Amino acid sequence: TKYVYDFSEGNKDLKGLLGGKGANLAEMTNLGLPVPPGFTITTEACKAYLDSGEAPAQLRDEVSAHLSALEERMGKKLGQADDPLLVSVRSGAKFSMPGMMDTVLNIGLSDESVHGLAAQSGDERFAWDSYRRLIQMFGDTVLGIRGERFSETLEEAKTARGATTDVDLSAEALKELVTKFKNIVSEETGRDFPQDPREQMDLAVRAVFDSWNGSRARLYRRQERIPHDLGTAVNICSMVFGNLGPDSGTGVAFTRDPASGQQGVYGDYLQNAQGEDVVAGIRNTVPLADLETLDKASYDQLMQIMETLENHYRDLCDIEFTIERGKLWMLQTRVGKRTAAAAFRIATQLVDQGLIDEAEALRRVNGSQLAQLMFPRFDSNGGVKNAEQLGWGIAASPGAAVGKAVFDSYTAIKWSRSGEKVILIRRETNPDDLDGMLAAEGILTSRGGKTSHAAVVARGMGKTCVCGAEELEVDTKRRCLKAPGGKVVEEGDVVSIDGSTGKVYAGEVPVVPSPVVEYFEGRMHAGADDADELVKAVHRIMAYADRVRRLRVRANADNAEDAARARRFGAQGIGLCRTEHMFLGERRELVERLILADTEEERKRALHALLPLQQGDFVELFESMDGLPVTVRLLDPPLHEFLPDITELSVRVALAESRKDANENDLRLLQAVHRLHEQNPMLGLRGVRLGLVIPGLFTMQIRAIAEAAAERKAGGGDPRAEIMIPLVGTVQELELVREEAQEVINEVERERGVGLGLSLGTMIELPRAALTAGQIAECADFFSFGTNDLTQTVWAFSRDDVEASFFTAYLEKGIFGVSPFETIDKDGVGSLVRSAAEAGRATRPDLKLGVCGEHGGDPESVHFFHEVGLDYVSCSPFRIPVARLEAGRAAA
Ligand code: PEP
Ligand code: MG
Repeated sequence: TKYVYDFSEGNKDLKGLLGGKGANLAEMTNLGLPVPPGFTITTEACKAYLDSGEAPAQLRDEVSAHLSALEERMGKKLGQADDPLLVSVRSGAKFSMPGMMDTVLNIGLSDESVHGLAAQSGDERFAWDSYRRLIQMFGDTVLGIRGERFSETLEEAKTARGATTDVDLSAEALKELVTKFKNIVSEETGRDFPQDPREQMDLAVRAVFDSWNGSRARLYRRQERIPHDLGTAVNICSMVFGNLGPDSGTGVAFTRDPASGQQGVYGDYLQNAQGEDVVAGIRNTVPLADLETLDKASYDQLMQIMETLENHYRDLCDIEFTIERGKLWMLQTRVGKRTAAAAFRIATQLVDQGLIDEAEALRRVNGSQLAQLMFPRFDSNGGVKNAEQLGWGIAASPGAAVGKAVFDSYTAIKWSRSGEKVILIRRETNPDDLDGMLAAEGILTSRGGKTSHAAVVARGMGKTCVCGAEELEVDTKRRCLKAPGGKVVEEGDVVSIDGSTGKVYAGEVPVVPSPVVEYFEGRMHAGADDADELVKAVHRIMAYADRVRRLRVRANADNAEDAARARRFGAQGIGLCRTEHMFLGERRELVERLILADTEEERKRALHALLPLQQGDFVELFESMDGLPVTVRLLDPPLHEFLPDITELSVRVALAESRKDANENDLRLLQAVHRLHEQNPMLGLRGVRLGLVIPGLFTMQIRAIAEAAAERKAGGGDPRAEIMIPLVGTVQELELVREEAQEVINEVERERGVGLGLSLGTMIELPRAALTAGQIAECADFFSFGTNDLTQTVWAFSRDDVEASFFTAYLEKGIFGVSPFETIDKDGVGSLVRSAAEAGRATRPDLKLGVCGEHGGDPESVHFFHEVGLDYVSCSPFRIPVARLEAGRAAA
């Protein structure tokens, strides 16, 4: 193996071996762009080092050879006393990763060579400042000395000299600072700052290798599911200096606007500075466009390079560059991050420029970006500009929320009951805050990150959330929020929070609906001349996704309104109508009567009352989905959901008894409620079990479906009903229901004189059903995977409780990076889905396969369902465009 590659030996496709940074430096070198010469130590070398704890001997030799070649080329040796070659050492893994050691600049400076640098540059101040920076960065990142030891000493020096920025420190002052920094190194490590340049370099390389296994990097990889055995590459690059005077500087640039996708000159430039000064925000940068007046030649060259890079990468690139005394150098490039809106616009712009084809455009966007674009947002014209920004936190759950500030859940609930909109503000949330979070428009916390309780639960609820806004002080005792500028928000003051940007505003910021939703709703047309550019782009990409996708997309909907919206959003049918939702409200009592019926007569009467109501529901649903399949699932949830609360009822009866006026009905009800009470209702009398235990219940529902279909047919409609049985664990259950169903259907068909073409299938949502899918398929026309219950039962995680209880701990420990209720657990739950699909199709090749758990609208899961060969996914109406897009991406 070869452990070291000169920049001229690599290319952009070698990210696995050379890391992202190294591969792109190589690519730029080979494009003939001005990259300072250097070489990359491969991830293989890192792995060899990590495996054995020792750098391979061969690595040392290879580094020596490449270093010599570099020295030859530059005409000076690393750390040479009278004219030192200096290098930077930078990490660069395949994926960029927080927690990895970043950069050490100016390697090669020593007590001796600092004088050489001063002489060569003619700038003593610069030389000592460079040496000061080396010791500081080396001490912090390589030797593990707390960064504050250096930064505090620097601050002291500035104060002592009355300097406001480091640039105001004289050469003398910097010389003193170097002495102090060296003392810190000796004190903290028990040895002197290394003077041998090669030793500096080797130690820095080793530190980069070691940082691969730092705890933050490991945690990040666990959460992002990045394998631990990739290793990182190390880039050794000859130094160029942006801090050699006013004709030098450093900057960052994008080849187009990463916010809107618009082409133009975007970036920042800082004169007489090095890269980390920009990041540290020590001095103010100027817009990149100003470079044209500062240094026209470099500016023109940069513009040309940007064009070269865009055409070459066929994408938006971001760039770091340095100008050393009028000479432009490219230090880094990569395909740049962008906002969701820009991703869509850039993808279609590149198609129009002929740089990519439509399939590639589809790969350049994704469903989470589309989902982000579907939230309402603050009015960017005027609204946000005039708003007073209080602070900034982590954008944890998207959307725009406005309401009165409340500081505890009790107040949130109380105020929202009286019709107020509230924003719940807490330092952090815990399970006691659940009801308050539900009552609020949005949630704001000052602590915690993307996996904090507030963030996880808010995302689960679909509530807007900004978390970890650390600059805002939440005072729950005094019930107020203090912003850094001194502004105080009292309880009841209106605040606005933006869960897509993390920004927090005082007062009410006007909210505008998402143009993308307006488009899907048919209220905005992509063809109109003045149509929003974003809408045009979304329209084009959706059309392409629809053309290539194999998966069909249906909706989970149980009323005509949702069904109609789903259809506008592109649903190709209903994959799940949860009939229990049709029994709530006023009808609950009818169900209660059915459950409590003592005699055959009473039960019949209850069923008889329910039948026409159900039938009416179905007629509406079939009408709104005319010509498309509608899967109606028979009653599923535990019975107690239809009965009065056991505690409330017990108290009422006890009170009545103490007054000696208990009423007969309540006593009977209490008895029944006790009889039906279960410790684990989710594992209890629900689904098909209900249908088999309560005579007439399923027959009534099946009759309602059949009658509704007949009614639609008679009216010239095209109903396509599918009857679905929930919670089946064994084929025997399904056989019993099927027999019963067939009788009813035959009867209705006979009476009405029409064929109804009804099919009957089952949910696969219990492990036993998945394991015996081959048998179950004998009796089913279709399977629909209920991945909510399947996840619940495979993991033994209560789907109603876990997200709010211990999931944050699991996420923080990196046991999984995302809730298995959100993204399908491919290895566990997913493997059951795969094998059940195969077994089902083996029994019955024409078996229709779908999924109707929440995963049906989750981007990553959609790809999985495509891959295992399902026919359709079904999801809530708002997720339909996301599922269409991802189904297209999976097929493209
Ligand atoms: C499921 O379990 O995945 C499902 C779709 O049914 P429900 O969510 O209604 O239990
Ligand atoms: Mg279920």
